[in-house]
Amino acid sequence: MRFQQQIIFEKIGAEGQKKLQKSTVCILGLGALGSRAAELLTRAGIGTLILIDRDVVELLNLQRQTLYTEQDLNLPKVYQAAIHLKQINSKIKIKPFFKDINYTNIESFVKGDLVLDCTDNLETRFLLNEHCLEKEIPWIFSSVLGSIGMLFNIIPKKTPCFSCIFSEPEDILGTCDTEGILNTTPTLISALQVTEAIKILTKQPYAKELLYYDLWKHKLTKTKIKKNPKCNACKGKYSYLNGEKNKEVIKLCGTNSYQLKGYKPDLKKTAEKLEKIDKVIVNDYCLLFKELTILKDGRVLIKAKSEKEAKELYSKYLGD
Ligand SMILES: [Zn+2]
Repeated sequence: MRFQQQIIFEKIGAEGQKKLQKSTVCILGLGALGSRAAELLTRAGIGTLILIDRDVVELLNLQRQTLYTEQDLNLPKVYQAAIHLKQINSKIKIKPFFKDINYTNIESFVKGDLVLDCTDNLETRFLLNEHCLEKEIPWIFSSVLGSIGMLFNIIPKKTPCFSCIFSEPEDILGTCDTEGILNTTPTLISALQVTEAIKILTKQPYAKELLYYDLWKHKLTKTKIKKNPKCNACKGKYSYLNGEKNKEVIKLCGTNSYQLKGYKPDLKKTAEKLEKIDKVIVNDYCLLFKELTILKDGRVLIKAKSEKEAKELYSKYLGD
């Protein structure tokens, strides 16, 4: 009964619904795009969801990250998402991972029949591209900025890959922090992404073009993409996956933040030290202090205008 309306829809039917039930989808990033996609897939009857995210819920996320409420503030998005999704569909299997995905661990966590890219930075997308090419896992790139969203299905051996389209992290998609974002942009792009996911999982024809949608102007551009004969990833040269392009500092889109690694904190001791300066919020997962979010796994997210400023704040408050 639950999926009746979807089974009546002739493109899915009872057969398609069974395929969805047997499918595992991995969602990388549980922000506006990922949390919405997770909700739609949960309601659509996907069997298993692997959810991966490295952040906690912040007040400024609630403007567009529709799965979360004020009760979820300062708690890991993946765990809170899993709670909400189970309330929506108690039958779904959810594997939540509060993890920062990098070249050393991507193989252990990013699995399944399909991966949805809902990340907030380009380095992770290049890494994901190489991982999915190597493991032959289809994935769907999505990205949002202002009133603009992009989407592209990447099926190993069949379509061009992400590196065929974009060459280096520096040269695409504009700057993420000066543009802001409408909450309708990720809502639309998630709808498109989940629709493509359902087509791919039920083995039906999917969009072959790079989709570019401007909600404010109601403008949809479809761009045909060809394989780039010079693409290293397509030739099996994986410079992100083998760690060559690993960066210590990553710029995160949409939050004016930089991620620095390698802090080995004792959250309680750090809290005691920082409390002398200003207010500290601390829980089992993280410590929040001024522009800094210090996570238990050693990552520090810093709101700053530049990498230089982020490093200065790091050494000001966390340096020896
Ligand atoms: Zn390629």
